[in-house]
Amino acid sequence: MKRKVLLIYTGGTIGMEKDYSTGSLVPFNFENIFSKIPEMNLLDCEVVVHSFEKPVDSSDVGPNEWKNIAQIIEKEYHHYDGVLILHGTDTMSYTASALSFMLKGLRKPVILTGSQLPIGDLRTDAKENLLTSLNYACLYENDEAVVQEVAVYFEYKLLRGNRTLKYSAEYFDAYQSPNYPILGQSGVHLNYDRDALYRPDGTPFSVDLHLSQNVLFWRIFPGMSMELIPDLPKIKVLILQVFGSGTIYSDASTERILRKIRENGTEIVVVSQCVSGGISFGKYENSNIFNKIGAISGRDMTEESAITKAMHLLDNPNYTGTFAENFVQNLSGEISGD
Ligand code: ASP
Repeated sequence: MKRKVLLIYTGGTIGMEKDYSTGSLVPFNFENIFSKIPEMNLLDCEVVVHSFEKPVDSSDVGPNEWKNIAQIIEKEYHHYDGVLILHGTDTMSYTASALSFMLKGLRKPVILTGSQLPIGDLRTDAKENLLTSLNYACLYENDEAVVQEVAVYFEYKLLRGNRTLKYSAEYFDAYQSPNYPILGQSGVHLNYDRDALYRPDGTPFSVDLHLSQNVLFWRIFPGMSMELIPDLPKIKVLILQVFGSGTIYSDASTERILRKIRENGTEIVVVSQCVSGGISFGKYENSNIFNKIGAISGRDMTEESAITKAMHLLDNPNYTGTFAENFVQNLSGEISGD
């Protein structure tokens, strides 16, 4: 049976080519992708292209674009066997994380990819990324999709989207998933790790478009004046990126300032500056403050996941329970147990 994949083109390097008159990279008409990569005609699946009207650099992708993508998927979900999203690499992990919370009960693959070099470049990584992503997007076994989650495919690796981070602006191997195993690896065969793949709990597919933007991310550093942390009533969630396994300065003003922020009704989520491992309140004396002020541990979540999860959960009428209760739940494989 020939599988059908919806290819959503949002922009980014992968869909650009050099304008030789100016030397700059400009988007090409993605409907012509089949002439750029004739190998696509050899695939054992039907690919239908849906291009953003105005393709964008991924630094221009945010909540509006996430909603747009989610709505396209909602509309087309039952007409396709899988979805491939072509996206700029800079913010791909944010989009993958946001979509992993917005698309509930996925039973089909939603894969994001992009490239470091444009498709027309002699040394491009775009072809491999695109062709193998399409293979994963239509990979079925016993009539069941192998991938049933939002994933990122890049440089031979299939990763859980909400566990990824872009760590290199130089190398083709640009993404890491430091706190979760690789879902699949393409070599001679298209391999996958059955035990690592996410399986939804059986709730029917639905889309939740709620996203709040009253979230702020703040990274501390040695010598930072805590007084500078803005205490604005509009910030409803402050994500604090602290040292190692959850430590922060021990002086009295730290507690006073963070307490005041909490008393104003702001939730404080704590994530680590280390990309591998996570937060463990109480492990060191200098992390006890977070238990005292009722902060929420982001455990081993990436910052991209913590930010988009906070945006998704804050004031979301579709959830019962408090923000803190919901935040520590594993919603789509983004967080490990205690
Ligand atoms: N600036 C580009 C983007 O993220 C980089 C890329 O696609 O690799 O849209």
